[in-house]
Formats: sequence, C-alpha cells, structure tokens
Amino acid sequence: MKDFTTPNIILSKCIEHDNCRYNGSKINNDFIKTLKSHVNFVTVCPETSIGLSTPRDALRLVSKDDKENFNLVFSKTGDDLTDKMHSFSNIFLKDISDKGIDGFILKSRSPSCGIKNVKVYKSHGKSPALPKRGSGLFASKIYEYFPDAVIEDEGRLTNFDIREHFLTKIYTKSDFKNVKKDKSIKSLIDFQSKNKYLLMSHSPGYLKKMGKLTANTESKDISDIISDYEIYLNKALSIPSKPNRNINMLLHLFGYFSKHLSFSEKAFFLETLEKYNNKKIPFCVPLTMINSWVMRFENEYLHNQTIFEPFPSELIQTRDSGKTI
Ligand code: SF4
Repeated sequence: MKDFTTPNIILSKCIEHDNCRYNGSKINNDFIKTLKSHVNFVTVCPETSIGLSTPRDALRLVSKDDKENFNLVFSKTGDDLTDKMHSFSNIFLKDISDKGIDGFILKSRSPSCGIKNVKVYKSHGKSPALPKRGSGLFASKIYEYFPDAVIEDEGRLTNFDIREHFLTKIYTKSDFKNVKKDKSIKSLIDFQSKNKYLLMSHSPGYLKKMGKLTANTESKDISDIISDYEIYLNKALSIPSKPNRNINMLLHLFGYFSKHLSFSEKAFFLETLEKYNNKKIPFCVPLTMINSWVMRFENEYLHNQTIFEPFPSELIQTRDSGKTI
C-alpha cells in the first residue's frame, strides 16, 4: 500500500462537524465523513467566530455599488457585519498562512463561506436578489493569503471529475511539501520523476518547463529552483485533465509495453482508447489495462507513477451529480 502525506484542509465547520448553521443545523456529507480519516481538518465557522449565536437570523450579501464590493448584513434589519467579518478573516487567514494548508472545502452559497454563486441583494428586507452572484466575505479573502489555494465547496464536490481533480491537487501539493522541507535536488528529481505521467495528463507544456528546471542547466540555487518549480506545479495542477491529454499520456505508457503484447492485445487496447475518447467508458478502464501490464512486466519505474493512484483509493466514490456550479 502506498504512503501518502496527509493533507491539511480548512473546512466550514457546519459540514459534518457542528450544528452552527443559522438555523441550528449541520450539513451531513458522506464524502467529508470518508475524508475525516485521511486528511487533517481544521474547522472554522466565520459567523460564530465573530460572536453570532446559533440559531441566528439569516445574513445576506448586499451590493452598494456596481463593483464586487459586497457588504454582509442581517437580511431583516440590515445591521452590517462587514468590518467584523473582514477583521476576523484577516486574523484567521494570516494565522494559518504558514501552517502548510493544502486546500479548503467550504459551504456552498453561504454569504460568508460560499466561494461563488452566492446570491447578492440590492438591500436588506424584501428586495429581490440581483441577477449577479458573488463570493462570501470570508471566502473572497482566501486568495489574498493563498493565491494558489485549492478551494472547493461541498456542492461542487458531488461532481465526480471535480472531486477527483480536487483530491489529486491536494495530495500532490501535500507531497510537494516534503520536497520543500528536504530542499535537495534529489528530492525534486524524484518528485518530478514519479509525477511525470500525472503532470502530462494535466499539462505537457508545464511538465517540460518543470523538467528543464530540475535539470538545473543554469546552476541556480536550490531554493530558487524549488520556488519556481512550485509556481509551475500549481499552474499545471490547476488545469483539469482532458481526454485528449489523457490519451496522449496513455499512448506514452503503452509504448513501454507494445513490443511485448500480441497483435490482438494491442488492437483491444486501441479500441478501448477509442471508446474512452467517445465517452463510452471512463478513464480508469484504459488506465487499469496499463496498470495490469506494469505488474505483469514488473516495470519498477512505472509502478511508482502517481497517475495510477494520485490519492488513497479508499477516497474514490463513483457517484456523480453532474453539478458544476
Ligand atoms: S457556512 Fe460558514 S459561516 Fe455559515 S454556518 Fe457554515 S461554517 Fe459557519
């Protein structure tokens, strides 16, 4: 069984942890329940942290101008909590900025925690929601302190592709912290080597740039190489893998074995790729075929490739809501 570095995740406390929602309820979520034993959760409820009680009157975002400057107010009275929420967010996020946080999972549509698509109103009271949507006040501060933050909400994580992408990012970033700690070119080369095909499925362009950095032809200082490498890593991981890039990557892997396979095995694999390209079967089908050859032909180098298990397999859930916002 593969060893994974445990990621540190900031989580909205009302998801699976505390009855702190405005109406005194908690969100039950099976995925978060499963994640509990695989990540370190640091929970936060920005609203109770600024002194609000539970239950409490509902809050909303109001737009005072045409810009993206929203105020957080009580829906009924209009009492304004914007300054309090900004001040709490600044203190909390500054405090955790050097704690090795790998990602955030926040409650969707909340005027404090929602990362996008939060309703915005013209004012408090009976005014209808405006056509535009925004980010909750706490969520919108995160990028100031974590420009490369991996953030999702629990609603979007019901989508299979978004969930897999999120898990891949947090586990890869978490593993990269070991390279930063080691500060050695050997660690960096090992990281690049085992993630080669995973990175190829996200961005062959960044993979190439990262390869050049690890070759260190310009004899740079290791700290500079690692920090430049991390910039490329974040950019590469932010690009979702797509069938065309996955097929390109799978064909590279296929190249290791094609000379050992029979004509019908090769034809069957290429047919399988065609079916994957036409969305008739999922990515795991051709990938598992390759993995079976890795084992059969005992290819040690490919055996260590993270593409075959980018995160603990216990976290794979096949459910898919198809939801993207
Ligand atoms: S959405 Fe955020 S602020 Fe609201 S109850 Fe949940 S954790 Fe607290």
